[in-house]
Amino acid sequence: MTESHSFSGTDAGISAPQPAAGSPHFILEHTFGYTGFRGDQEAIISTLVAGDDALVLMPTGGGKSLCYQIPALARPGCGIVISPLIALMQDQVEALRAAGVAAAFLNSSLGFDEAQQIENRLLGGELELLYLAPERLLQPRTLDLLQRANISLFAIDEAHCVSQWGHDFRADYLQLSCLHQRFPHVPRVALTATADQRTRREIAQRLDLENARHFVSSFDRPNIQYRIAPKDNPKRQLLQFLNSEQQGSAGVVYCLSRGKVESTAEWLQQLGFNALPYHAGLPAPLRAEHQRRFLREDGVIMVATIAFGMGIDKPDVRFVAHLDLPKSIEAYYQETGRAGRDGEPATALLLYGLEDVVKLSQMAATSEGSEEHKRQERQRLDAMLGLCEITSCRRRALLRYFEEELAADCGNCDTCLEPPATWDATEPARKLMSGIYRSGQRFGAAHVIDILRGADTEKVRQFGHDKLSTYGIGADMSANEWRAIIRQLVVRGYLRVNAEAFNALQLTEQCRTVLRGEESVQLRTLPKAAPAKATRRDSGAGEARAEISATDQPLWDALRALRKSLAEERGVPPYVVF
Ligand code: ADP
Ligand code: MG
Repeated sequence: MTESHSFSGTDAGISAPQPAAGSPHFILEHTFGYTGFRGDQEAIISTLVAGDDALVLMPTGGGKSLCYQIPALARPGCGIVISPLIALMQDQVEALRAAGVAAAFLNSSLGFDEAQQIENRLLGGELELLYLAPERLLQPRTLDLLQRANISLFAIDEAHCVSQWGHDFRADYLQLSCLHQRFPHVPRVALTATADQRTRREIAQRLDLENARHFVSSFDRPNIQYRIAPKDNPKRQLLQFLNSEQQGSAGVVYCLSRGKVESTAEWLQQLGFNALPYHAGLPAPLRAEHQRRFLREDGVIMVATIAFGMGIDKPDVRFVAHLDLPKSIEAYYQETGRAGRDGEPATALLLYGLEDVVKLSQMAATSEGSEEHKRQERQRLDAMLGLCEITSCRRRALLRYFEEELAADCGNCDTCLEPPATWDATEPARKLMSGIYRSGQRFGAAHVIDILRGADTEKVRQFGHDKLSTYGIGADMSANEWRAIIRQLVVRGYLRVNAEAFNALQLTEQCRTVLRGEESVQLRTLPKAAPAKATRRDSGAGEARAEISATDQPLWDALRALRKSLAEERGVPPYVVF
């Protein structure tokens, strides 16, 4: 993060120019005690002060709060902040009051008299910032109240809650577009740390912010080291990581289920770690207590589900470890982003295994929601797996997902430091590319794989794809192997999944050199062909084994059963499922 501004006079003998009282700079220095703005803060603040709308995408810890707090103070009237979590509001309001700002919140935790008092202060023009939960804001009574007050701006924090694809979706957020109609002259700003294009467009559209100025910061977090390893013995792997690198550090360990959160926290406590559980099933006071201890005490390890973390401002979190695969790259980015907000080195460690893929595909398949929604979830999971499987720089791949291109490899992630074993996948990659090209770049992975494997499906016949020269040229590989190749080619930027066209696979400019034979494609060796582990295990045997180990067998059985049931449900052959 760069400090883009410093406010010091340079002319000898002349004292530094003082920012005018009430100006954004003056407020920054005198109210918040900072010397300069960061990144886009100043431009965002000027936009709002001038009365225009803004959409702000800034990574966690980037400093979004000041972007609406300062304009609210600089403009006449009270700034209304819409925030999804009561705990977050309380923290922010406390901090603002300590800085001498007339701030308050209105939510269900207040009694009638207290709420009344705040309403009166708002109408009397005594408040500078008022925090509201969306459901409170949308009550006719509140809207009526706001209509009678003098409002300086609306800030919609954690604006990705409006996205139905994200895991923080809040139905109330959808109705916030009414603010534009009801208060056409009040500037609005929506802020989020979620960066992908689709969510960005969705936010702009649903919140009626299409004419707003967009501010997109770099999402790179250079001080976070990304490491992703297959699960071997996850407990041992975690323990080794904690003991050898993170003694006494504060960190978060994410698990998929509540049960696993509790058992993992207990296990760590027994080993003498200062570990606490956190998930939505724990009583609210206990959750609050654990959160408070995590924030205030040194070296607490929070073992949590994804219910933990949104808006937590703890600068010195040294690591975030995932014991299960996150369900999307957005989620992974958000969760790992909680590490190293102070800019000091931090580590993001992810352990993933086949069972995660099974569990998450199952969750995606059985989740409520439309077919379209399920397809999106599967695609996001695929992209996440792709990030696990790549052999090139993880940071670059991560940022590329958010449409940001780094100039060079980071040199700091696990794949940069220890390049993994690869195989030459140039031939299969070319077969795949021509399969996609010849079928018109209009079909998703499953159908393209059917073509390559020479499957006899109705769709293949319907489109005459059994007549293509690429029909059956990839029958030597399983659908699963093809999926792994596709995933890796997508994260490497050779293929694109077009979300606007039913997730059709399409070629990118990058394919040219491969198709012309000028570039080879090296992909990570697939687990079943990985010799290293097998050789180590039967020390001395010295021979690579491709068979399934006894511990993996139940997983394979579960996987097969799942595949069969999904295939039946969709009326397709099992190998097209995954
Ligand atoms: P976000 O909401 O983007 O995750 P916050 O607004 O909570 O980030 O800010 C993160 C931290 O950075 C806070 O501790 C905040 O006080 C600090 N911060 C924000 N802007 C500045 C600045 N211009 N100078 C110094 N510190 C800042
Ligand atoms: Mg924030």
